[in-house]
Amino acid sequence: MTVRCRFAPAPSGSLHVGNVRSALFSWLWARRNDGAFILRVEDTDASRVTEEAFRGVLDDLRWLGLDWDEGPEVGGPHGPYRQSERLGIYRDMVDRLLRQGDAYRCYCTEQELDERKKAALARGEPPGYDGRCRTLTDAERAAFVAEGRTSVVRFHMPEHEWIVHDLVKGEVRWAAGDLRDFVLERSDGSPVFLLAVAVDDMLMAVTHVVRGDDLLASAPRNVAVIQALGGEPPLYAHVPQVVGPDRKPLSKRHGSTSVEAFREQGFLAEALVNYLALLGWSPGDDREILPRDELIRLFDLARVSGNPAAFDVEKLTWMNIHYVQQLDDDELAARTVHFLTQAGLGVNPVTLRKAMPMVRERIHTLRDAVDLLTFLFSDDVTPDEKAVNLITRAPEGYLKEAADALDGLAGWDAEQIATTLDAVAQRAELNRTKGWQPIRAAVTGSNVSPPLPESLELLGRERTVARIRAAAR
Ligand code: GLU
Repeated sequence: MTVRCRFAPAPSGSLHVGNVRSALFSWLWARRNDGAFILRVEDTDASRVTEEAFRGVLDDLRWLGLDWDEGPEVGGPHGPYRQSERLGIYRDMVDRLLRQGDAYRCYCTEQELDERKKAALARGEPPGYDGRCRTLTDAERAAFVAEGRTSVVRFHMPEHEWIVHDLVKGEVRWAAGDLRDFVLERSDGSPVFLLAVAVDDMLMAVTHVVRGDDLLASAPRNVAVIQALGGEPPLYAHVPQVVGPDRKPLSKRHGSTSVEAFREQGFLAEALVNYLALLGWSPGDDREILPRDELIRLFDLARVSGNPAAFDVEKLTWMNIHYVQQLDDDELAARTVHFLTQAGLGVNPVTLRKAMPMVRERIHTLRDAVDLLTFLFSDDVTPDEKAVNLITRAPEGYLKEAADALDGLAGWDAEQIATTLDAVAQRAELNRTKGWQPIRAAVTGSNVSPPLPESLELLGRERTVARIRAAAR
């Protein structure tokens, strides 16, 4: 049997990391088993799903490297892969269920449903649909239609005990009668997601459904629909929610939650993937740095924890630092450009590439490169408050002397620059730290910077000297 997994997002902007974690587990399981990963977009709610949100989902997945074998823009034998293009299929399936007697038209109005719900609660009974329209005669139906009532299509849920053998949650049971008849098709003819998911998983021959455990109660309903249509239900793996440090579902209150937000902060896809994989899963030992190939080799749905996993941005940052170190200079420079340009800097690629060795260890997220490297790509280095202090506290004539000495250097490399700066400092009876700080402040506008001599070498003699002279005035 070929393993076929899917991710079925309803796009509403950049993906939530909790949702991405489900996608990742699903993708890992497919890759681990040399199976197929299917992307299916649940976009039937046209009022909510914009083209932009749809694009956003594809971009997020591509950026993360979660490639799909079947789906939008890729195609495949079971398409189309956007539910909005499958409405005819759902319609046909509803007709089949109606003909078979597994579904029926329900003419109850909102108000009637509401009244019966209240009455049931008052009697201390569970409030779900009571099955009233299951047994309407043709004459009763005709009378409702004549009255001008509209109808929905309801699924006749078999009233026995339901058991789902979930790969993460274990055996989950619903007592006979607990699962009531549910709506498959709204009065406007649009499919409800319980139907669409079941039909698509069946027709797309999905073998494993990996999704959030907020959908656990959908599982027996999905299974019932698939069985009524003569299909083979998939196996289910409902993964627990991602929560914040306070154990509440991860939300904006806790900080960033979307892939886009993490990406824009300068986290690497490699780090986010590694981090999310370990959120609720472990390889069985205490290894934490697991690049993509290792994850694929080791991932096992059976080892996914049934407990909610808490998102810890500090740990993600720690992993990011690790993966930044792994990138070679060209790659690190290529990924950093975006952040510098976004900050309005005109970037010279050769200079940027040369700057990588001196900032690499200071970068936690790629965005840190902006503060570290602004002095290289912009001559607007108005000193901040700390830098102003360092400049004004320098001994009389100190900056001018440094500028002259650097200006008179025969060559221009970090070593000569360091020797010269040391000599100037010594003449003023300052140690290296104290002696270099005013120069750093004058050149970068800040009291922190990448290593000074290397920074000045890259900046060039002319710009260095000009900045020190400007500060001296
Ligand atoms: N579209 C649903 C969601 O984004 C997922 C449905 C499913 O995975 O079965 O929550």
